[in-house]
Amino acid sequence: MRPIGVLSLQGDVREHVATLENLGVAARRIRRTSDLEGIEGLIIPGGESTAIGHLLVTSGLREPLATLIGDGLPVFGTCAGLILLAERVLDGRDDQWSFKALDVAVRRNGYGRQIASFEAPIEIGERGTVPGVFIRAPRIESFGPGVNVLATHDHGDGTGAHPVLVRQGAAWGCSFHPELTSDVLVHGLFLDALREALR
Ligand code: GLN
Repeated sequence: MRPIGVLSLQGDVREHVATLENLGVAARRIRRTSDLEGIEGLIIPGGESTAIGHLLVTSGLREPLATLIGDGLPVFGTCAGLILLAERVLDGRDDQWSFKALDVAVRRNGYGRQIASFEAPIEIGERGTVPGVFIRAPRIESFGPGVNVLATHDHGDGTGAHPVLVRQGAAWGCSFHPELTSDVLVHGLFLDALREALR
């Protein structure tokens, strides 16, 4: 398999690279447009969606990435990365933009502020349970019919279960940080789907 790009403008890049390498997959840090040549897929890490969005513009990566994602490049956004892939961003900054690759509405900091960060076990159907690390996490408030919900979490605040891992075609998003634990299941699911599509 060709390398998987990890968008390396801001956020927890190193952890995603390490997780991919643990899974035996080559990772390439993406900082400029020339880095995009020949990647098999892309991970957009957690961090700060407004900062990453700004750097995507100044680096010149926004337009070529929008084209690649629109053409079906497999892409996986975690936390801030999910926000950058969402169709709608609630409580975003006035100038906040997104690639609109996942038909979801996400609320920034939808589980509360930094102090409300938490960990919860996340059950991914029959695939197993992973530790979910939520840090100023976006909450998926609604989603369209094309969205496949792979895992949900009920935060116990009376609003019921919200999706925390979703997939729409080649685009994946999760509101937690699978790269911050040693559990590789979530990355493995993304890579399995990518390999499946290559066959
Ligand atoms: N709240 C952050 C944002 O809006 C995301 C937090 C994260 O990625 N840990 O970008």
